[in-house]
Amino acid sequence: MIEFNSELLIPPLQPATGYKPGFDIQAVVNGTARLTEQQLAELYYHAPLLDLGRWALAVSQRMHPEDYRTYVIDRNINYTNICTARCTFCAFKRNDPEAPDAYTLSYAQIYEKIRELMAIGGTQILMQGGMNPALPITYYEELLRGIREKFPAIHIHAFSPPELVEFSRFFNLPAAEVLARFKAAGLSTLPGGGGEIFSQRVRTRISPGKCSGEQWLDVMTEAHKLNMFTSATMLIGHIETIEDRIDHMCRIRRRQDWALANAPAHYTAFIHWTYQPDNTPLDKKRKWNPDFGKPFEFDNGRTVRLADANEYLRMLALARLYFDNIRNLQSSWVTMGPKIGQLALFFGANDMGSVMMEENVVSSAGTSFRLSEELICRLIRDSGWIPAQRNQYYQVLKRHDGVQSPDLQVRQPAVFPKRQHHITPEDVARYQAIELTISAPSRSESGREK
Ligand code: SF4
Repeated sequence: MIEFNSELLIPPLQPATGYKPGFDIQAVVNGTARLTEQQLAELYYHAPLLDLGRWALAVSQRMHPEDYRTYVIDRNINYTNICTARCTFCAFKRNDPEAPDAYTLSYAQIYEKIRELMAIGGTQILMQGGMNPALPITYYEELLRGIREKFPAIHIHAFSPPELVEFSRFFNLPAAEVLARFKAAGLSTLPGGGGEIFSQRVRTRISPGKCSGEQWLDVMTEAHKLNMFTSATMLIGHIETIEDRIDHMCRIRRRQDWALANAPAHYTAFIHWTYQPDNTPLDKKRKWNPDFGKPFEFDNGRTVRLADANEYLRMLALARLYFDNIRNLQSSWVTMGPKIGQLALFFGANDMGSVMMEENVVSSAGTSFRLSEELICRLIRDSGWIPAQRNQYYQVLKRHDGVQSPDLQVRQPAVFPKRQHHITPEDVARYQAIELTISAPSRSESGREK
């Protein structure tokens, strides 16, 4: 048995190419200097992807020298799809509560989903919805109390900042008070949904009816003050510029500095993902093409620059170099697929995110990657680490280094109907004997003669 040696996973730090940054990248990698926004921009525009990956992996190994990489088993429960906002990247919401496919889940339906989650070893729910003005505050409080009472072992990770800003408006209460009441009813942590890009010029175009970037950050700060841990997110690959992304990251890093110095809780993770265009109004916009030779510019949201795997991994590596105050970076295999999701572990991610039992938002936009626990474990193990199930605080619940590991079970061969793979000579003879009753087209029908 080969002993795990994290040193082996640290690549040599000399660049893979001849590129040399105009500042001391070694100090950033070692953790003795902070990457500035100007340096982040320099790396984005000039550093080859492989160099970024090497530096980001070295940082990830420094921050997480353990022999494992983690994942969580949870279930997305989208309790309603009725929403007052009109995000142009969203294929999930229904603005009209009377629409035939508009819904709000009953408590019984939500409880049943949690029972199913627990049956597969799940430990938490990620509950988010549209922003439905018909639901009173008691719907949420009773729901949280009910879950806490019936499923005390389940961690409730729920309600993104835009929902809390709207709740504050619907219930005429300060967001901090709504948060405190939800916490008393059983809410534990907040997901980072709805962060998108904080720049108001971008939000006005892609998220009309949704809170501002500063309001998003303020809700998270209130949560941190109340000792509730949260996640930070960023949506890339739509109408935003690189400068918008850097501004977004900068605002998160500053708030995290404040939280670490002044609050009992903070951001536990940063997650970015790429816009998925199918079925969304934003997909009607023209797409920027790098072959046109003109740089992408913000043009009031008339042009979309989609992000590919290179762009996703580049931003992931840059996030690892920039966020020296956020410990965990998640791989977004839900939008990038399992292979790029696995590669993300070598570009700064230390966590594979969630074995999602259910996902409705991204799948409404045409992306439907699904991974079982077995597959996530295999992706981690094949990359050189031991897979480990974690909770929302990134504490390890189960290390999978024994023969009972989900990915080390003997798999039964799949069974397919014989005919799909094996055509017998009798089959061939039978097909050849079928009389074709297609009459030859007349000369005029064939279109050769008019
Ligand atoms: S992304 Fe969320 S807030 Fe925006 S329209 Fe969709 S459900 Fe509503």
